[in-house]
Amino acid sequence: MFRGRKGRRKVLALLGPGEVIGEMAVIDHGPRTASAVAKKPTRLRRITREHLENKVDAADPLIRVLLRLILQRYRAAVAGKRGGGRKRADAVRRAALSRLRFAQEIEQGLEREQFMLHYQPIVSLDGLHIAGFEALVRWNHPTRGLVPPSEFVPVMEEGELIQRLGRWVLKGACAAVKRLNARTNGAGPLFVCVNLSGRELVNPTVIDNIQEALRATSVPAGSLRIEITESALVSNLDFAVSVIGRCRGMGVQVAVDDFGTGYSSLNYLRHFAVDTLKIDRSFVRPVNTEENNRQILRTIRDLAHAMNMTIVAEGVEDLAQMRMLRDLGLEHAQGYLFSRPAGESEAAVMLDTPWPWSFERRLVPRREERRAAAVARLLPFGPSGERA
Ligand code: C2E
Ligand code: CA
Ligand code: CA
Repeated sequence: MFRGRKGRRKVLALLGPGEVIGEMAVIDHGPRTASAVAKKPTRLRRITREHLENKVDAADPLIRVLLRLILQRYRAAVAGKRGGGRKRADAVRRAALSRLRFAQEIEQGLEREQFMLHYQPIVSLDGLHIAGFEALVRWNHPTRGLVPPSEFVPVMEEGELIQRLGRWVLKGACAAVKRLNARTNGAGPLFVCVNLSGRELVNPTVIDNIQEALRATSVPAGSLRIEITESALVSNLDFAVSVIGRCRGMGVQVAVDDFGTGYSSLNYLRHFAVDTLKIDRSFVRPVNTEENNRQILRTIRDLAHAMNMTIVAEGVEDLAQMRMLRDLGLEHAQGYLFSRPAGESEAAVMLDTPWPWSFERRLVPRREERRAAAVARLLPFGPSGERA
């Protein structure tokens, strides 16, 4: 039943057993309401958006965009009658078309091998050696230079391009950790972290993709760590429980990314066990000033340790933050203080030399070069990581 203007009710459909009705909720993100009245005892089944989106993903992205355009045109026409205007309809159409063009350009970029991976070290706070790397994707655009993932990942997530990217990242990251591991001189195996978006999490082939990447590169499962953001995890809890269970079952590690930003309750941690919590950088930034924040970090630390999880603190940018995190007893840190995400050859240099890494002087501007030198002088560690 649909409640129209002036509160008038209109019956849209009378459903029989097993029948389902829905507006174009899969392609359109606007909020809507509808109510149903059951005449006989009825069992309700909840169908989530993700269930439907998987099916639509299989369709041509062009069809998806066209459906969206039709819906937007219809809305604009209705709005026009109510005094809106043609201008708005045109603006909507232009925006939709430019997004479609961008998606096509991204697809071309994938075909022309313009995508690359950068690696950011995850450093042990006790000894300052590299424990692993996070693989972060970049688009080496022919005219725009390096495009960050925040610009293209959301567009890829609207269609099935994200699945292609995900498979490519998994294979590339596994192949790289194999090469990098060969350079650690037996200092202990490294892990590589790969980000999994919410849309990949709900894709039925995600486990096959992970297994295929490990098989093709002969990398042991324990060298791969999948990162799932807390918000993707809580909004797809059923899928997350299954994917996390299967990953850990085959020995692949799992981390909750951006921990502390996605949900106000830790309730979801009851549903599954993960290996690592990556504390979002918003908790690291005010670490030196706010006692409250330190208390939160202590609580997260106690919770993680009680559940056999390790912690990575993200976004560590200065020495004071690093010392604080180390004094709190957190295991690992990642951030610009150690290194920005860099190419594989720089990652290899980092493995060969103690931090602060001198090659950074070539990569970063002068001011940062001086800062790196100042950091080196302040450091309470000797060159090999032992305390001075
Ligand atoms: P994320 O997983 O939270 O990745 C960390 C982001 O923080 C990276 O940005 C990194 O460059 C940045 N960062 C690292 N250290 C610092 C620091 O000390 N200070 C500050 N301000 N930032 C720091 P990036 O590379 O632009 O990635 C942004 C997001 O894009 C990632 O957030 C991740 O959610 C997504 N992403 C990156 N690569 C992939 C991928 O291969 N697949 C998917 N699905 N998503 C990806
Ligand atoms: Ca991440
Ligand atoms: Ca993060």
